[in-house]
Amino acid sequence: MPTQILEIALPVPLAQNFSYRHRVQDDTDAGRLVLRGDLVVVPFGRRREVTGLVLTVGPEDDGVELPAGVKMRDVVRVLPPEYRVTGDRLRLAHWLADYYMLPLGEVVPLFHPPAPGTKARKVTAAADDWPEVDAEALQLTVAQTAALDAARSHLDEGKFGAVLLHGVTGSGKTEVYLALIAAALAQDRGAIFLLPEIALTPQTLARIHARFGDQVAAVHSGLSAGQRCRVHEGAARGEIRVVVGPRSALFAPVLNLGVIVVDEEHETSYKQDEKPRYHARHAALVRGREAGAVVMLGSATPDLESWANAVAGRFKLCSLPERLGGGALPPVEIVDMRGGDGADGLSPVLDQALDETLAAGRQTILFYNRRGFARVLQCRDCGEIRTCPHCDIALTYHLRPRRLLCHYCGYTRPVPEVCPDCGTGEFLTGGGGTEKLELLLQTRWPEARILRLDQDTTRRRDSHRRILSAFARGEADILVGTQMVAKGHHFPGVDLVGVLAADDGLGLPDHRSAERSFQLLTQVAGRAGRTGAGRVVFQTWRPDDPVIGAAAVHDYGAFVAGEMPTRQALGYPPARRLLRLAVTSRRKGDAEAVASELATALRDAFTRPGLSVLGPAPAVFPRLQDRHRFQLLVKGTLRRAERTWLTECLRRLKEARRGVDLIHDVDPVSIY
Ligand SMILES: [Zn+2]
Ligand SMILES: [Zn+2]
Repeated sequence: MPTQILEIALPVPLAQNFSYRHRVQDDTDAGRLVLRGDLVVVPFGRRREVTGLVLTVGPEDDGVELPAGVKMRDVVRVLPPEYRVTGDRLRLAHWLADYYMLPLGEVVPLFHPPAPGTKARKVTAAADDWPEVDAEALQLTVAQTAALDAARSHLDEGKFGAVLLHGVTGSGKTEVYLALIAAALAQDRGAIFLLPEIALTPQTLARIHARFGDQVAAVHSGLSAGQRCRVHEGAARGEIRVVVGPRSALFAPVLNLGVIVVDEEHETSYKQDEKPRYHARHAALVRGREAGAVVMLGSATPDLESWANAVAGRFKLCSLPERLGGGALPPVEIVDMRGGDGADGLSPVLDQALDETLAAGRQTILFYNRRGFARVLQCRDCGEIRTCPHCDIALTYHLRPRRLLCHYCGYTRPVPEVCPDCGTGEFLTGGGGTEKLELLLQTRWPEARILRLDQDTTRRRDSHRRILSAFARGEADILVGTQMVAKGHHFPGVDLVGVLAADDGLGLPDHRSAERSFQLLTQVAGRAGRTGAGRVVFQTWRPDDPVIGAAAVHDYGAFVAGEMPTRQALGYPPARRLLRLAVTSRRKGDAEAVASELATALRDAFTRPGLSVLGPAPAVFPRLQDRHRFQLLVKGTLRRAERTWLTECLRRLKEARRGVDLIHDVDPVSIY
C-alpha cells in the first residue's frame, strides 16, 4: 500500500501549514487514497485532534526534509468525500483567509459541521403549531416580476450578478426569492437561502418546505451534530438542492450553485463577532462570483454599503414600493416626551391607543430596547452607582429574581441592603426596562394578557418560539420586548405598535448608530396593520431628530440623503473601508503600551494618501471581563502587501508581550 505525504492547513493560529503522513488502506473508508481538498483528522500537540484541509498530496519519496529528531505523524482518519472542499468553496476559503488576514486553516471550520462524520439518529419531528401553509406559488405583481426577471437574466446567462431587492415590509420579497429559487431548480442548479437566525421561524421554514419539499433542508443552531452532518452530506451528494439557514449555511456544499439569497441583508448578525470575523453578505457575493451564481440581497432598509454598490451600478436595484394587497404602511405618530412626567412610562397618547386597541380585541406590540427593571441603581445619599467589578459598566436591576446583573459578562450579585460606599439604605433606580414596563401594564390593565420577549424570558430552549407562536395564535393581547419583537414575524392581529424610547440607540458613539436606529424603527413600525388599519406611536426625547422623522414616514430615501453626506465627510463606510484593531490585557499598562507601539508602527508603514490611522484610545467600554481595552482604527483599503505586513506585525507584538491579545476586525459592524 502506498504512503502519501500531505500538506495540511490546520485551524490553529499559526501562519504555516503542516505535513502529515497517510498510509493508504484501501479497504477502509477512513484510510482511502487522499485527494487535494479532502478533510482529514490529525493529531496536534499532545492529545488534541483537529480537522484540517489537504492542500497538496505527494508520494513519500518526494522527501520532505524534517529537522533531526522530528517525526512526521500519521493522519488519524480521512473524512468521507462529501466533506471535500473544492471549486467555488475552495476559492472562497482562500479569499476569506486573504481578505480577513487569517491563516487558511482558521477558516476551514466554516466549511464543515462541528463534528463532521457524525451519524444522525432518527428523530421524530416536533408537532408544529403554526398553521398549514399554502404550497401554491402566488401570482407575482408587476414589480415582483421585474425583480425576478432582473435576477433571472444573470441566472440564464450562467454568470455572476448581484441584485439588491429593496422592498417595504409586507411587499412580498419572499415570494420573489422563492420564484428565483424555483427558476434555479428548473435549470438543475442549487440554491442557498440565508436568513438571520432570529427570522428562522417554523413559519418561514414551513413555507419554504411546502414549496420545495425534500429538496430543501435547514441548518441552524437547534440541530444536533448528526443532523447537521446529514444536511451537509445530502447537499454534497446532490440530494438536497436548497440549503436554508443563518450565515453558516453559506458554506454548504450545494452542487452547481445558481442562486444565493441574503434576506434582511442589513442585519448585523451576518457579521461573525468572533474569529474568523467575516461578513456573510460579502462572502456570499464572493461565492456567487466564484460559482457563477446570482446573489439577491433583500431588505426594507438596505445597508448603506449595499445601497452605495447599487447606486454605483455594481448591483442591479429593484424596488417593491407597495405592500401586497395595496395596504398602506401604518401612520406613525411622534410623541414628544420632553418635560413630561414618568420618564419610563407611557405617554397619554400611547396609553389611550392601548386602551382602544384592547377594547377592540386587537393586539399590541410594545418595543423597549432595554431589559430588566432599571438600568442603574444609585445611592440616594452619596450618588454612587453600582457597577460590575469586572467591566466598569452599570449593573442592571432585575426584580424577578431580585438581583443586580451585568449585561455584558453575566456577573450577578444580590441587591445590597445598604450602600457599600456610605452605609445609608436608600437607593434610586434610574431608567426603565422591559420588566418594569410589564409590571406597569399589569397594574394599569389587570385583565390584559401580557407576554414578554427578551433575553430573560428566552433562556430555556424553545421558549422564544413558544412565546411568538402563542402571540401569533392570539393568546395574548400585548407583547412587550426588546429588539427581538422587531424581526421576521407576521402577526395579523396587531393593530398597534408602540416604541417606548425611539431615540435609545441614537447617542451611541458609533458611525452606524443612526443607521441601526433607522432600521430598527422602520422594522418595528412595519409590524402594525399587516391586515387592515394599523397605528404606530414613537415616544421620544428627540422629536426633531431626522432619523426618527424618516423612520416615521417610512422614507428610506430621506434617511440616505441625510446620512450619506455625514459618512462621506467623516470618511466612514461606505465612503472608506474600516479596520478595527483592539488591544486587550488584564494589565492596563501592557494594553496601553502595545497599543501605542502598534500605532507608531502603523503610522510609519501606512504613509501613503488614502490610508489614515486613528488612535490609540480607550475603547467605549474601557474594561470588560477584567480586560482593559484600547482601540485603533485604520481608514482606507489595504493592499495585499500591506495586509501581509500587518498580519506579521500583529503576530510579532502579540508574541512580545504575554497576556496581551490583539484583535483585528476587517469591516467592523460596530466600533465599541
Ligand atoms: Zn452611598
Ligand atoms: Zn461585567
